[in-house]
Amino acid sequence: ESKGKIGIIGSGLIGRSWSMLFAAAGYKVVIYDIDANQVSSALEGVREQLKDLEKSGLLRGKLSVDEQLQLISGTNKFEDCVKGAKYIQECTPENFELKKKVFQQLDQLADDHTVLASSTSSMPASTFSEDLKHRSQVIVAHPTNPPFYCPLTEVVPAPWTKPEVTTATMSIMKEIGQVAVLLKKEVLGFALNRIQYSIVQECRRLVSNDVISVEDLDKVMTEGLGMRYAFIGPMETCHLNAEGMANYSERYGEMIYRITETFGPNPKWEGPGHEKIIQEMNEQIPLDTLAERRRWRDARLTALAKLKREM
Ligand code: NAD
Repeated sequence: ESKGKIGIIGSGLIGRSWSMLFAAAGYKVVIYDIDANQVSSALEGVREQLKDLEKSGLLRGKLSVDEQLQLISGTNKFEDCVKGAKYIQECTPENFELKKKVFQQLDQLADDHTVLASSTSSMPASTFSEDLKHRSQVIVAHPTNPPFYCPLTEVVPAPWTKPEVTTATMSIMKEIGQVAVLLKKEVLGFALNRIQYSIVQECRRLVSNDVISVEDLDKVMTEGLGMRYAFIGPMETCHLNAEGMANYSERYGEMIYRITETFGPNPKWEGPGHEKIIQEMNEQIPLDTLAERRRWRDARLTALAKLKREM
C-alpha cells in the first residue's frame, strides 16, 4: 500500500534516481517533464536500472521490481504531478531563471503543507524563493551523483523555511535510506561542492605547475586519500593520526598552515595549464569511451556500497 504521493519535476539523471529512491520506500511517484519524450525515456530507464540493481542484489527496500514500477508513473501535466503531493523534488537543469520560474509555478498549485524541495547543486533556496507565498515550505535537498550509490543528501533551509519543513525533509530522507546532513546556514555551493572544488582547484595547480601528471594525481586520491575517506572523514582522520585532535594540531597545525599558505591564487578554468589537463584526460579516457567507463564506475561503486552495507 502506498504511503502518499511524491512529485518529481524534471526527469533527467537526478529526477530518475529520486523516483527510484522514493518508490523503493513505498511512495507513489509522479514524474513530470516539460519534454514528453523525457518522461517516457525516464520510465524506460528506471525499469532497466531497477532490473540491474535486482541482478546485483542492491535493490533497496522490500518491494519487488514490479511493485516498485507500479508505484511510478509519468505525466505531461504539471498539475497532475503537484496536486495532492506531500513532497515535491524539483530536478530541472541548474539554471537560475528556470529554477525561479518552476518555483513560481509550484507556488501557484501547492497547498500549505507540501514540502517544496530543490535538487540544486549550488543555489541557496533564498535566492529563488523570496517572493513566493509558500516560501516557508521551500528547502534544498541536494543529492550526490549517482544517488543510488552515494547516499549523502545535503538539506539546506532558507532563513524563512519553517522548522517543520526542515524536520519533515530530514525524516523523509532518512526513511528512503539517504544519509541527510543539515546545513545550519546557507552558503554558496553548500558543503560537498565547496570541499570538492577546493580539492579540484589544488589538483589543477599541481598539474599545471608540472608537479605531477594527471594520471598520477588521480592515484593520490584513489590509492591514498580516497581509501580512507570512504570510511572516515577528514576530521576523524586528524583525530586518529595522532593522540586526538588537540595533539594532532600541536604536532601538525603549524606545518599545515605553512603549506596551505603556498597554495597561490585561485586558478581560472582557462590557459595553457588548463589545456594540458584536458589533453591528458582525453588521452587517458577518450571521449567515445566515457559511457563504458561510467558503467565501470557504477559497478565499482556498487561493490563498495555492498561492502559498506555488510560491515
Ligand atoms: P538533466 O539535464 O539530466 O535533467 C533535467 C530535466 O529537466 C530534463 O529532462 C529537462 O527536459 C527537464 N526540464 C527542463 N525544463 C523543465 C521545466 N521547466 N519543467 C520541467 N522539467 C524541465 O539534469 P540533472 O543532471 O538531472 O540535474 C537536475 C538538477 O539536479 C540540477 O539542479 C543539478 O544541479 C542537480 N544535481 C545534479 C547532479 C549531477 O551530478 N548530475 C548532482 C546533484 C544535483
